[in-house]
Amino acid sequence: MASVSDLAASDFVENAAMGAPALATARRLVVKIGSALLVDEKTGHIRQDWLAALAEDVAALRGRGVEVVLVSSGAISVGRRHLGLTGRVLALEEKQAAAATGQIKLAHAYQEALARHDITVAQVLVTLEDTEARRRHLNARATIDALLRLGAVPVINENDTVATAEIRFGDNDRLAARVAQMISADTLVLLSDIDGLYTADPRKAPDAAHIPVVTEVTPEIEAMGGAAATGYSSGGMVTKLAAGKIAIGAGCRMAIAHGHAAHPLRRLEEGGRCTWFLPSAGPRTARKRWIGGHLNTTGSVTVDAGAARALAQGKSLLPAGVIAVEGDFQRGDPIAVQDMDGRVIGRGLSAYNAGDARRIMGHKSREIEAVLGYRGRDEIIHRDDLVLA
Ligand code: GLU
Repeated sequence: MASVSDLAASDFVENAAMGAPALATARRLVVKIGSALLVDEKTGHIRQDWLAALAEDVAALRGRGVEVVLVSSGAISVGRRHLGLTGRVLALEEKQAAAATGQIKLAHAYQEALARHDITVAQVLVTLEDTEARRRHLNARATIDALLRLGAVPVINENDTVATAEIRFGDNDRLAARVAQMISADTLVLLSDIDGLYTADPRKAPDAAHIPVVTEVTPEIEAMGGAAATGYSSGGMVTKLAAGKIAIGAGCRMAIAHGHAAHPLRRLEEGGRCTWFLPSAGPRTARKRWIGGHLNTTGSVTVDAGAARALAQGKSLLPAGVIAVEGDFQRGDPIAVQDMDGRVIGRGLSAYNAGDARRIMGHKSREIEAVLGYRGRDEIIHRDDLVLA
């Protein structure tokens, strides 16, 4: 199965992002599933047949070597009925209570549906902050990477039970885009109740035209999305456009596609109507730009000549090659890498805080546990997190 670094090595994604927008070329795919698709609005039950068909699509993609991550909504919609919370607008703590109940059912439904294809499901609950605060970002990225490597399908939702902000339907559009960015996915599909972006809301303006491709979310495009929907289980177009912006910035192409009928991914693959948001670069370039863009490093490491050579060859920075650590930084913070002449040769996200980096510098990676008392990462800066100057 492809790892992020394989993707990076081949540049395959960079080309695919600019060329034919087809699901067939995806290597690491995030699929966002809205509540309205998964949950029957009348009964509050999970649409088992639909889910079974989706699981077939996922199994087919995985059979071709595509890594698949699902971001699923529906916890609140499923949970509220079980707590007798129907027919009115819920208070935040009631939504959180509903999510706590519904999430179990949701996870179980995915587990069952994918087990029929011998696929293991892993539940990952994140808050938007996990994708934004760098320390957690590194952890969540590494965990999801590990799950994919081990062949599991991560099913991600917001940790609604502890989220501090108001939970709004549609937030998972943005969450899915953040997840795609975090794990350097090359493709994101938002399965929705509409087959893409139109020049105006097609439910109100019958002459609205469908837009097949967007390469930049301009104010004009945003105006087409209209105002935020307040209805049940739909974030409307506004949150999808926000997701599109994040995805384009992250070098991830994104599709908004209709998902209500069975086999939505197969349909999309067979050329079903949708809107593609196409970035000009791939996820690898975008991530490197994102890391390289951190001019405000709060510290630096000085490396010996051997390490400097290894970095130039595309290797990770190991503690053995570090001879000095300057400044004060936390795990996940961007730091500068200097050679012995004090020249900045790169920038990267540190896997250790400054104190621990100082303690392990000069040591072999296998000695880290003995020095720190815990087994951290082998590298001080992983090559995926490093940009050379
Ligand atoms: N996280 C919410 C849930 O699972 C849904 C958010 C959304 O629909 O965007 O119920």
